[in-house]
Amino acid sequence: MRKKIIAGNWKMYKDLTESAELLGGLKARAGEIPSGVTLVVCPPYTSLALAGATMKETPIKVGGQNMSEHDEGAFTGEISAKMLKSTGCEFVILGHSERRQYNGETNEGVNRKARKALAAGLRPIICVGETLAEREGGVTESVVGTQVRGCLDGLGDRMENVVVAYEPVWAIGTGKTATPAQAQEVHAFIRKTVEEMFGPSVAGNLVIQYGGSVKPDNSADLLGQKDIDGALVGGACLKADSFMQIAKSALR
Ligand code: PEP
Repeated sequence: MRKKIIAGNWKMYKDLTESAELLGGLKARAGEIPSGVTLVVCPPYTSLALAGATMKETPIKVGGQNMSEHDEGAFTGEISAKMLKSTGCEFVILGHSERRQYNGETNEGVNRKARKALAAGLRPIICVGETLAEREGGVTESVVGTQVRGCLDGLGDRMENVVVAYEPVWAIGTGKTATPAQAQEVHAFIRKTVEEMFGPSVAGNLVIQYGGSVKPDNSADLLGQKDIDGALVGGACLKADSFMQIAKSALR
């Protein structure tokens, strides 16, 4: 059975003091996380070392929200995979739609970053998803299929460490959630695409998260779908209570 992975993307929220408060709140409740669930916090870079130190003796994992495709060098403002690792990170979110939209990230660039992440021992959470115009234009599968093929190209022998997050862009931060059936349909399509790329065993073991306005009141229905193996949570991860409620709903 695939383990459920619930990751919280803090985005550009929480300074160091606020981060300490949220991390402390989560750590205090770590015992409530069901055993088949992995909980991951992805704070901003400035709070990663604190998160790594706080969660060291707990089951809660830490992830970055992005990283450079380069090992090191004159890349002002960038952070390498090795730097993320040194803070205690085990995961890194790659290709989030906000980075695709505001920072021009492409499938090819995400693929290069994923290779670097895996080589450094980080588990990439690779985000894919269609815009509202694409869904309404009936091209969801062609868009998501192209993203999956581009981002995962050549990763076959390391796929056990890869997580894919299906995040319909129209559902991120909007309060509009895909229905469980809509999400399940795309998740099944992603698994089929991965099966075509790497075979049934890799596809069967792949953790595919859903992201897009996941909240405690809709998480159980979404996470109860056959091909939904976790969630990438934005807004609702900024409070320990709602994030924990989502984690607990994953294995009902
Ligand atoms: C996200 O940032 O990945 C996300 C899904 O955000 P929200 O849960 O706020 O829609």
